[in-house]
Amino acid sequence: MAIKISVLIVGGGIGGLATAIALRRAGHHVTVLEGARELSEVGAGIQIPPNSSYILDTWGLLEKIKEKAVWPEHMNIRRYANGKVISATRLNPDLEDKYGYPYFLIHRADYIQLLCNAATEIGAEVLVNAKVKYIDDAKTSVRLHNGTVFTADLIIGADGIRSKVRTAVIPEKVIEPRRSDNCAYRATVPAAAIQADSEISHLLENHNSDFWIGHRCHIVAYPIKGGKLYNIVMSHPGEASLTQWNESGNLYEMKEPYLKFDPIINKVLSKITQSQKWTLADIPPLSRWVSCGGHITLIGDAAHAMLPHLAQGAAQAIEDAATLGVLLSQIHSVDSVPDFLNLYEQIRRPRVERIQKNSLENGYTWHLPDGEEQIARDKAMREADELRKANSSAKVESPLQWSDGDFQPWLYGHDAILVAKKALQEMTRNGQIGFQEKSKF
Ligand SMILES: Cc1cc2nc3c(=O)[nH]c(=O)nc-3n(C[C@H](O)[C@H](O)[C@H](O)COP(=O)(O)OP(=O)(O)OC[C@H]3O[C@@H](n4cnc5c(N)ncnc54)[C@H](O)[C@@H]3O)c2cc1C
Repeated sequence: MAIKISVLIVGGGIGGLATAIALRRAGHHVTVLEGARELSEVGAGIQIPPNSSYILDTWGLLEKIKEKAVWPEHMNIRRYANGKVISATRLNPDLEDKYGYPYFLIHRADYIQLLCNAATEIGAEVLVNAKVKYIDDAKTSVRLHNGTVFTADLIIGADGIRSKVRTAVIPEKVIEPRRSDNCAYRATVPAAAIQADSEISHLLENHNSDFWIGHRCHIVAYPIKGGKLYNIVMSHPGEASLTQWNESGNLYEMKEPYLKFDPIINKVLSKITQSQKWTLADIPPLSRWVSCGGHITLIGDAAHAMLPHLAQGAAQAIEDAATLGVLLSQIHSVDSVPDFLNLYEQIRRPRVERIQKNSLENGYTWHLPDGEEQIARDKAMREADELRKANSSAKVESPLQWSDGDFQPWLYGHDAILVAKKALQEMTRNGQIGFQEKSKF
């Protein structure tokens, strides 16, 4: 008989809330401790690829999310100077046809709200204003800044790139985020302001995810909020804080690197009245994901923060959550928590480390200076598109990773739930699951 254990999740971002859903579905007692006064996200968009929309569907959330989502037709890679499309990857309905689940765009605040509602409706407790100050590996407990102590059978650090919980998992070394040269400026513009301007209104005739790529900088833009807002992320060399999402960005610094970009996107940028900036960073592969005591682990950015150039950070947090949900649904003893966490690390680490590495490489590919390499890149992308058009089932190599015939199915076709179930069967077959102890709770 599987038992119920008590779980503390530190951090109520996308990863923490998703883990709360997965572990409640597995029957456990779940408390989320969120440090902020309220659950919030930056006023920006997020792309949800099929490898995570599949999991959201398994949890019964896809229909609700669909009400808030935008379904992009294409991912267009454009030449920075004139906006000409170099490569167009068809997203909807093609990815759904290929992988069974759609690629969509959503406002982060809507996403967080949906996940939070789903977690609390099935019985997770979500506490805000609960900032964790200290984590005790030996006692599997945390102490908040206000002195309150919580103890559990398992603690999960979902507290982002500057994770506090990580210091309890790897106490011997301070893991600093690796700052990239670039920071991201994020902004939104009402779609009506774009639709009212005949020079740029065509950008919203169809819903697409558009990228303008140039030397060391790029712009990503797509509609969110059912098409009512246009979300824009600008990535270029600069300085910004790593401690807060919403440092206010100077508008001149935001626009200046793009003066040589397509006049169309410059017209869009001229409509931005405020922006937020954030240093783009990742973390190096960690020496371990499970604490020495064996009852604390990490998920999401706390475990494997990555650059956003594959739009997979949150998707990987969802996969982590689903994996833990499947594995821990079969736990028979509190003493076997370490075995399950080690299995979780074993399953997840190779995949996320490959995605971290490829995200970094995708950035290099986009940010080439004009010249031979850039010309060869653009030619290869165009040729890949042509070959795919001629034979849609051909495995075509592309410098654009999410279009590449090998990488795309590996990335988007991944079934995190099945992988976890198979690993669990294997573990059971090998007799590695303990059956003796009862939960502390
Ligand atoms: C520009 C940009 C674009 C991106 N686009 C995409 C995309 O399109 N698709 C995608 O999948 N990913 C994308 N990502 C990545 C994605 O945003 C992150 O990977 C994801 O938000 C990580 O979620 P998380 O829950 O692990 O961490 P976070 O979102 O950082 O959440 C951590 C939470 O923990 C809380 N917290 C921190 N410390 C404590 C503490 N001591 N006590 C209690 N609570 C604490 C914080 O308040 C926060 O709520 C993008 C990232 C960037 C920078």
